[in-house]
Amino acid sequence: MNVEALGHDTVFGTAADDRPEPSSATRMVEFLRAYSRNFLNSRLVDERRSLPPALTSDFADAGLLGLQIPQKFGGQDLSHTDMNRVFTQLGAIDANLAVFCAVHNTLGTAPIQQSAAEDVRSRVLPRLATGQALATSAISEPGIGSHLRGMATSATRNPDGSYTINGRKKWISLGGDARYVNVFALVRDDDGRPQGITGFLVDSRTPGFEIGPEMLTLGLRGVPQYDLRFRELRVPASAVLGGEGDGLSTAKAAFMGGRIVLAAMAAGAAMRSLELVQRFTSGRVVATGYLAENGRIRQLLAGAGAAVQAVETLIGRIATWRDAGHDVPDAWYFCAKILGCELGWSAIDAALQVLGARGFLDTNTVGQHFRDYRLFRIFEGSTEALSVYLGTKLIKNPGELAKLVRPVQPNARVLAQVDRVVALAARLPGDDAAQHIHAAMIGELACWALLAAVTSDAGHRSAMHGYTTSWTEDQLRRRLDHAHPGASRDLPTGAEFAAYVAGCADAIGEVDQRRWPGEEWSADPLLRRRGGPQRRACEQ
Ligand SMILES: Cc1cc2nc3c(=O)[nH]c(=O)nc-3n(C[C@H](O)[C@H](O)[C@H](O)COP(=O)(O)OP(=O)(O)OC[C@H]3O[C@@H](n4cnc5c(N)ncnc54)[C@H](O)[C@@H]3O)c2cc1C
Repeated sequence: MNVEALGHDTVFGTAADDRPEPSSATRMVEFLRAYSRNFLNSRLVDERRSLPPALTSDFADAGLLGLQIPQKFGGQDLSHTDMNRVFTQLGAIDANLAVFCAVHNTLGTAPIQQSAAEDVRSRVLPRLATGQALATSAISEPGIGSHLRGMATSATRNPDGSYTINGRKKWISLGGDARYVNVFALVRDDDGRPQGITGFLVDSRTPGFEIGPEMLTLGLRGVPQYDLRFRELRVPASAVLGGEGDGLSTAKAAFMGGRIVLAAMAAGAAMRSLELVQRFTSGRVVATGYLAENGRIRQLLAGAGAAVQAVETLIGRIATWRDAGHDVPDAWYFCAKILGCELGWSAIDAALQVLGARGFLDTNTVGQHFRDYRLFRIFEGSTEALSVYLGTKLIKNPGELAKLVRPVQPNARVLAQVDRVVALAARLPGDDAAQHIHAAMIGELACWALLAAVTSDAGHRSAMHGYTTSWTEDQLRRRLDHAHPGASRDLPTGAEFAAYVAGCADAIGEVDQRRWPGEEWSADPLLRRRGGPQRRACEQ
């Protein structure tokens, strides 16, 4: 395909055109629109569980595989603001394309760009930018997901300075396609003592690198995930990303940027869903007249629109700070990941609901977004794991929240709500379960406080912005009104709940269906009804 013609000349006209040269982000956005109009069939991507064969080279030609790689290595060196634009567009078109680009550019490329030795960077980055090789990161394992410190994959240092890696990874996007995989492993000394989690840049063609079965996922079927196994995999000392023991900070740097990109994609998909539902409601007549004029439907869709606009404002602000070189506190990234993905998916769900039976069609973009974007609440830090983590940190240091909102100078109403969150954080309940609930609650409230703060000065921009400001404040206030530190009071104990579930099994019988050999589900020890102790089985 002549990508140059598609991405530039067709869109921007002839050489006689005296408009200024478009930025590379603008060119990419226009390329993506033309590409999706002319070449993409998302339903087939979903059905065939694969991306179009020429996608890698087409996207590389358009610059989409080296988004933030420096120009000297053949990349686009995009600002964070432009990254948001490109990923919002990608997310609106198809989550498969968007995740493909996000995995390669953030999880895959960023750790190499930020932490590899200079000679490794100059050898690998040009290959990544031009699509000669793809990259990803392998962190998750069968026995750990959100809990990275429980990592079982290990590395030992050899006398010549090289390392030998053994272990298993699970759910690795592009794991079967990427030439370069950033493998995170726990380095152990000769006596087996842990020396810290470390990132290694691994060439997947190295002996001992084995690719296991593809996962049969509910959505995002065009970007398959794989099991990876490393048996006596030897990598040179130059493969270390950062220093030995720096793995968590290497991973964190890549993950934080990735989290903003996920929020941008979810916002794009939500905008597309709202666009489709708006077309529907303005033509659809129900008992009360046009659906677009029904107050309840207007309220539902306006809430979804406000959520998306608030997220856009949030990620735009974070990008502006990063572009100006500010060190953005982690809480802002967590807020973008948690609320961007939660609210984006809720807005898609609202659009699907208002579309009625049409929403339930699998051939409908909104339905596919609904399946694909469900994952966003789970991966790269699930909502629960992140909010408990954030809440725990803020409970230890309650004054931090006030400091976080200060740079955005929120109005007095929002500041008063922030004070309420801080006061609530200090009311720490006694037992463990209540503390988990309390931490999750404070984490979520803190995210809403940040969102309300960042949207509080945007109300004057348009009527919709005005609505978004008051909607966001209202969401925070309502959550605060219902937040109680003793919310675990009536919680059944673990044993009481297990007894209830055992009772359900009596009512419904043992209904596990036959699975054929090789099917991923049957291999997961944590979902088996019988067998040895689950924890041991999962480590095998
Ligand atoms: C399609 C797909 C693509 C993926 N791509 C990659 C990839 O490229 N590379 C990679 O390394 N990984 C990848 N993953 C893995 C993904 O990041 C993990 O699935 C995710 O981190 C969650 O881990 P888990 O599935 O083990 O769930 P767990 O961590 O076991 O979580 C199970 C449940 O417990 C909750 N939970 C977890 N911790 C807490 C807590 N502290 N407090 C309260 N609740 C908690 C979670 O919210 C969840 O509801 C991918 C996963 C999928 C499904």
